[in-house]
Amino acid sequence: MEDIEKRLAAQLYRVTCPTPTELGEYHLHLISGTQADTIRQHLHICPHCQAELSQLQAYLTDLTPDVERSLSERVQIWIARLIPAGTMGGGALQPALALRGQDDGPLMYEAGAAQLTLEVQDDPEKVGARAVLGLLIGVETVETVAHLWQNAQKTAQIPVDEIGNFTFTGLAPGRYELIVSGPDFEIHVQELVV
Ligand SMILES: [Zn+2]
Repeated sequence: MEDIEKRLAAQLYRVTCPTPTELGEYHLHLISGTQADTIRQHLHICPHCQAELSQLQAYLTDLTPDVERSLSERVQIWIARLIPAGTMGGGALQPALALRGQDDGPLMYEAGAAQLTLEVQDDPEKVGARAVLGLLIGVETVETVAHLWQNAQKTAQIPVDEIGNFTFTGLAPGRYELIVSGPDFEIHVQELVV
């Protein structure tokens, strides 16, 4: 007898139950106003929907790391690898860069689809300060920003122009991390001695 009552009660509950979609939308706060109030009141009395909601919560909690992972997959992180001097075959870049009067020759990096050339030199405008001239090729440089970090603090930030040039000036000599970040990539030069 008790069983039948329970089953009847269960069926009654289900008739007035919101659909799984409505429950999901309620959980994600996509439903508001009286509709949300109705669902909230129903949840207080309906063990089925309570169970469904907690299942849903567990499912969404499981899902979240994946969502975050797919977000971070959209931004590719490339660790720049220094190409030893002389292995580039002396392309057309070198004479052009030589005209700028660098100290130690350009540093060439490979980073994913991109190539990054850096020149570290004295800042012509400021005695004792240093400058970094950068050229990024192989990727779109729209909305791309170069930033320098030192001791986990961002010390400088400049936009990269549409043909991939960027210049830092007035830098204190030291060791930096250079990060060049665009909408879908991030290039890390883990140690740059300036
Ligand atoms: Zn229900």
